[in-house]
Parts: sequence; structure tokens; C-alpha cells
Amino acid sequence: QPGVVFDNVVFGYDPGRTILNGLSFEVPAGSTTAIVGPSGAGKSTIGRLLFRFYDPLSGRVLVGGEDITQVTQESVRAAIGIVPQDSVLFNEDLAYNIGYGAEGADQAMIERAARDAALTPLIDRLPDRFATMVGERGLKLSGGEKQRVAIARTLVKNPPILLLDEATSALDSRTEQEILATLRRIAEGRTTIAIAHRLSTIADADNILVLDHGRLVESGTHSALLASR
Ligand code: ADP
Ligand code: ADP
Repeated sequence: QPGVVFDNVVFGYDPGRTILNGLSFEVPAGSTTAIVGPSGAGKSTIGRLLFRFYDPLSGRVLVGGEDITQVTQESVRAAIGIVPQDSVLFNEDLAYNIGYGAEGADQAMIERAARDAALTPLIDRLPDRFATMVGERGLKLSGGEKQRVAIARTLVKNPPILLLDEATSALDSRTEQEILATLRRIAEGRTTIAIAHRLSTIADADNILVLDHGRLVESGTHSALLASR
């Protein structure tokens, strides 16, 4: 699987106001890097550049050693799975929701993704009880179940790179622990960037980057960062 490098990246949404100010870091292939920092620090912007919603003003983003502006947007996006804080779910069955955005995903791929996201009991009961998943006619999914649908949706394309953008921030703490366990399992063997705002949720990351005003202010393991406080 490819590693990810930000090399002296400068980026801003509006002229005259930069959000990332010469940001450099490396996520070695197969490892997990967490990014923390105050709201507005630029964490989500990193994900938007990686997924090529935007390109840097200067500097480079490398995936597998290649500048992502030099390859097709499709190939970059195919390599990256994003788990956001909130996902839009459709008033359709779970298989539809899991397969959404992964054209060509067959039933076996959807079932495997559901299993990996620990959703199998739900998918087994399709289509009768879960024919509609939200709204008056169907059973409402809990926050944790919705996140498992989002995780399964991400896993369908079996991406070598995972971007977790506050993936557990909206959950209560017990559900968060359950989802974190699933995320740790699916991160194995993938290059993972986990954006978070609580240090406790990323204790086992290989490296933690502390971002402020679009600059790296600290980095290290969880224990090293705690020791330096
Ligand atoms: P974080 O994820 O660390 O909270 P973001 O990367 O979302 O930070 O945002 C960093 C800064 O960029 C903030 O000041 C925010 O207001 C600004 N910003 C985010 N998205 C946009 C946008 N689409 N247009 C203009 N400014 C934006
Ligand atoms: P997050 O998940 O970090 O909240 P958002 O993209 O929702 O990311 O927004 C982050 C910040 O950027 C918020 O403060 C929001 O108001 C601001 N923001 C988002 N889009 C824009 C935009 N188009 N113009 C200016 N600010 C924006």
C-alpha cells in the first residue's frame, strides 16, 4: 500500500488568507498517523487536498511517491476511503447505502464490507425489516449503526488508504469505543490518517501530528506527547 507525503504544502481557500502554511509530514505505508489540533487548524483541509477537492497553491501531496496532481483524479480517489463524521444515508436498504458511490460493487463485495464493518446481522435481515432504514416506515439506525454503514461504504472499494475525519466525534463514549475497535481492525494493512479532536481516541496511532494555524507544532507518539506536557 502507498504512503502519503505532504511536502511544504501551502493552501488557502480565499486570496490573501492561507490555511496550510508550508505543511510537511509523512505517513509511512501501512502506518497510522493521527492529526489533532483546535477547530479551524486546517485538519479537514488536509483531507480535502488528499482527495483532490482542491490542489495546493504550492508544495506537493504525494501518494505512493507520486505527485497526485500528475495522475488522474479518479485513480487518487480510488485509492482513498473516507469515513466522515456524518454520512448522508438514503431511504433505501442497507445494501444500496453500502454500495452507494462504488459503481460495479456486487452483492459479495457489499456483504464482505458489511461483515468487516460488523453489520452482518443487519444485512442478513434484508430486505423485509430493513427495507427502509430511516423515516416512519423503517427502523431507525442508531448513531453507531449509521457509522458502521459509513465504514462499510468506505470498505466496498477496499482502499489502501483510509482517511478518518472525526469518524467517532458524534458518538457517545461507549459507542465510540465500539466503533474505534472496528476502525483499528480495518486500519490494519492500510495507510491511515485519523483526524481527531480527543487525544484519547488515537492513543495507539504510530504517530500523532499536532496542527495549529496550518502548521505542525508537535509530533510524536501518544506517550511522548503526554510526557512533554
Ligand atoms: P479543522 O478541520 O481543523 O477544524 P478546517 O480545515 O475545516 O479546520 O478549516 C480551516 C480553516 O479554513 C478555517 O478557518 C475555516 O473557516 C476555513 N475554511 C474551511 N473550509 C473553507 C471553505 N470551503 N472556504 C473558505 N474557508 C474555509
Ligand atoms: P468541520 O468538519 O471541521 O466542521 P467544515 O467544512 O464543516 O469542517 O467547516 C469547518 C469550518 O469552515 C467551519 O467553521 C465552517 O464555518 C467553515 N467553512 C466551511 N465552508 C466554508 C466556506 N465555503 N466559506 C467559509 N467558511 C467555511
